[in-house]
Amino acid sequence: MPSVPKAGAKHGGIGESADSVGRMEFLLTLRRRGIADAAVLRALDEVPREEFVTPNYGDAAYADQALPIDCGQTISQPYVVAYMTEQLEVGPEHHVLEVGTGSGYQAAVLSRLARDVVSVERYRTLAEAARRRLEKLRYHNVTVVLGDGLAGLPANAPYDRIIVTAAAESIPQPLVDELAEGGIMVLPLGPHDDAQRIVKLTKTADGIEREDLIWVRFVPLLPGQAREL
Ligand code: SAH
Repeated sequence: MPSVPKAGAKHGGIGESADSVGRMEFLLTLRRRGIADAAVLRALDEVPREEFVTPNYGDAAYADQALPIDCGQTISQPYVVAYMTEQLEVGPEHHVLEVGTGSGYQAAVLSRLARDVVSVERYRTLAEAARRRLEKLRYHNVTVVLGDGLAGLPANAPYDRIIVTAAAESIPQPLVDELAEGGIMVLPLGPHDDAQRIVKLTKTADGIEREDLIWVRFVPLLPGQAREL
């Protein structure tokens, strides 16, 4: 189990105790809700979520809720980020694809666990902002690509792990094709106007194994690069 962050450690200091308390609560909430993987908890502890939220929402950075970002999208709820990351079983040798960069927060969390992360976003505004943030924070093993992740990203395939952070109405075949044998893909699957299930797919020599997990609500996975923004 990871140690509870010390007041004053790393992101806090004298005069920042409210922030430290917020961060301590943050980890306790994740643990209480069942996140048990120490490496995943450490990764969420390390990444400063306040850098990824819109400044107006800075005070809510460590609350366990999704928040709006530009282009009508959202930064996912920390519990869901932790849960999907845990289900993805990421190791230090893994080459990971994320579809739906958004703020870049999930990619930053993955970068602490994986060898490298390629993250695709269909909005130029979001892709550029995420790229700047990740550079500023020196997460050098993340590459943000502007494009349509529904079509896959063959140039960097195959991937050991694939995570989709927007709701898919059906399993995108190009992504299944780009998953390495033994690889795992985690995605929210279901209708765009209702709740979806997190689904975990494991590619084996005999085919695809599927597990249906928790209910969630994600913004839709849409085809094509966004024409505006
Ligand atoms: N992982 C993000 C949350 C993303 S919200 C974070 O940590 O902040 C979902 C994102 O998926 C949105 O930014 C949306 O624009 C993007 N998206 C939707 N369909 C896409 C597609 N086909 N290709 C790439 N990105 C897509």
